[in-house]
Amino acid sequence: MSDIVYLNGDWVTGNNSKVSVFDRGFLFADGVYEVIPVYQRRPFLPELHIQRLQRSADAIGIAPIATEFWHQLVLDLIQRNDLDDCLVYIQLTFGADSQRSHLPTQPLTPTIYASLSPLRVHWNTPSPVKVAVLEDIRWQRCDIKSISLLGNIMLKREAAKRGAFEPLLHRNGRITEGASCNYFMVKQGLLYTPPADHLILAGITRTWVIQLARQLEIEVHEEAIDVNELQHVDEVFLTSSSREVQPVGQIDDIIVGNGQCGAITAQIAEAFHASKRHLIQE
Ligand code: PMP
Repeated sequence: MSDIVYLNGDWVTGNNSKVSVFDRGFLFADGVYEVIPVYQRRPFLPELHIQRLQRSADAIGIAPIATEFWHQLVLDLIQRNDLDDCLVYIQLTFGADSQRSHLPTQPLTPTIYASLSPLRVHWNTPSPVKVAVLEDIRWQRCDIKSISLLGNIMLKREAAKRGAFEPLLHRNGRITEGASCNYFMVKQGLLYTPPADHLILAGITRTWVIQLARQLEIEVHEEAIDVNELQHVDEVFLTSSSREVQPVGQIDDIIVGNGQCGAITAQIAEAFHASKRHLIQE
């Protein structure tokens, strides 16, 4: 487990880390976060993750923090803990005020927290899962990786109640993403995924998968997908830093293809595993 965490310049054990009750992250979820996978103590695509963290911070008005600081923080966390395969979690909030006030009452110093959690790395493509189609009840700025995850969690709970691994969300009939992952579908040999607009979080795994698919000469379309399209898909998969490429075998009562991992999904997942192997052997 991650014993040593980073909090505002100190390295402490998780149990001994304390944040003020007046922290705006605690009171208002006024903050952003980032999750970076680490394979055999090497961060995977750290530049893209740190870029996204900076973009999220900028979008909510937290003053910029040097990129080098984040890269060093990730390396120090790995070095101080005893986990080979893990996820780096970084949380950045507006900071602690002296009272609860919707607008800060004084200039604040951001709260920076970072820790590691173990990661089960997939070397074979995982078994297909079921998803439940649900209306996307979240806010209109899903492009910000906000620590306010209430909508996501309520949707995840509802999906679990329906026996599904993940919700598949749509807004006014247009597919957006999962509660914690991005959505891809294959139809007649072409790969489709919703565009990276304000209604989804542009996943780093999504970006990487699009790149891998193009290298494999699979045509990729980033375009709006009607939820009715789900009746006619050949393959579906989800992507995220912790799940990598996760095939979907069932959407509510509809079996996708023959319920097994499709050929194009398998090809992309294999390319993904190869890029991890490449990182480890560098
Ligand atoms: N969408 C949402 C809502 C997420 O929370 C996540 C990550 N947990 C993703 C997509 C996937 O992003 P990434 O590939 O960068 O992990």
